[in-house]
Amino acid sequence: MTAVTANADAPVLLDLPPLGAAHFARIEDKVAALMRTRCDVVAMQGEALLPLEACIRSAVRPGSTALNIITGPYGETFGGWLRSCGAEVITIAAPFTGAVSPQQVADALREHPEIDFVSLVHAEAATGNTNPVAEIGAVVSAHGALLMLDAVASVGAEPLLTDEWGVDLCVIGGQKALAGPAGVSAVSVSARAWERIAANEQAPRRSYLSLLDWKERWIDGGRSALPHAPAQLEMLALEQAVDRIEGEGLDGVITRHRAAAGALRAGVRALGGLVPYVIRDEDAAPAATTLRAPVGLDAREVVSAALGADGLVPVQAAAGALAKEMIRVNHYGRAADRDVVLASLAALATGLRAVGMDADGDAAATAADEAWNEVSAAR
Ligand SMILES: *Cc1c(COP(=O)(O)O)cnc(C)c1O
Repeated sequence: MTAVTANADAPVLLDLPPLGAAHFARIEDKVAALMRTRCDVVAMQGEALLPLEACIRSAVRPGSTALNIITGPYGETFGGWLRSCGAEVITIAAPFTGAVSPQQVADALREHPEIDFVSLVHAEAATGNTNPVAEIGAVVSAHGALLMLDAVASVGAEPLLTDEWGVDLCVIGGQKALAGPAGVSAVSVSARAWERIAANEQAPRRSYLSLLDWKERWIDGGRSALPHAPAQLEMLALEQAVDRIEGEGLDGVITRHRAAAGALRAGVRALGGLVPYVIRDEDAAPAATTLRAPVGLDAREVVSAALGADGLVPVQAAAGALAKEMIRVNHYGRAADRDVVLASLAALATGLRAVGMDADGDAAATAADEAWNEVSAAR
């Protein structure tokens, strides 16, 4: 039998001391600070779809009327969950070229005063747009409905003021701008959301999807005993990710993401051939930029030629129905970096030329560099 020898250069992942309740609670508190909330924050032991589904199944029941705002693929998923909980679902769908307007939300709430739950995605990594949550939150608060926000692709990339904006259920994950793990996530729950959930007979109980279980078994007991073995490695990685953000300074991290988006958009406009899919700069997500391929050109061919030139750049074709027309450049986390943006533009220039288009790589690099400096200096 061959002995199994550990690679001396590998990170230490095994034989760690147990992650105790106090440490787990401390990680939750660090996440709460990052989310700018004083509400309860539950670190859920799964990818962000777990708390998103948990929020909807906990707060929504037959007789609920939900306003589901769709600005990308996640909104579609929420609609399915809302309907399966027995809710009447009113939908606002904004084109992926922009954001939903607070006026659209106000109009829907006026037309349907019975709306008691609103689901919204802050920024969409998949479609590259971001929504004005502060203004929408004010409209929803005035109406009195609960507001659930998917902030997975915005936390760390742009301001997220959970309490100030009146968000009742705010979900984050570690895997985007925080450059952390994907296997744990967190949700903040306001006092009125807890009331609504406790009054909902259909809310999951004794279930992995249950927020109430965490309240009863963890929060109400003063967070002194964990209900299950925690996902220790993922929790430690989340803590390190948040510590690293605090070390750099949240404002600095946000500026880095804004600079990446600004530089990529400016670079693409100088490059020629492709145009930003999201029309207005203020509607563009700082975490990812989507690009539109000209009619008659298949975006996937540009992407595969670009990746042939530089397989390390975070350039990909969009998923599903948009694959032919949309290219996505992810510049979140460690990729919110000047060199990554410049390398992405250079690879796109190669990709465009490979399919017979003109592309001015030098002009793109200059424009991107200038835009990066402008955003950084304005901080
Ligand atoms: C990335 C992301 C999630 C998490 O989903 P994954 O499929 O694991 O990437 C949820 N919501 C939004 C808006 C996201 O961008």
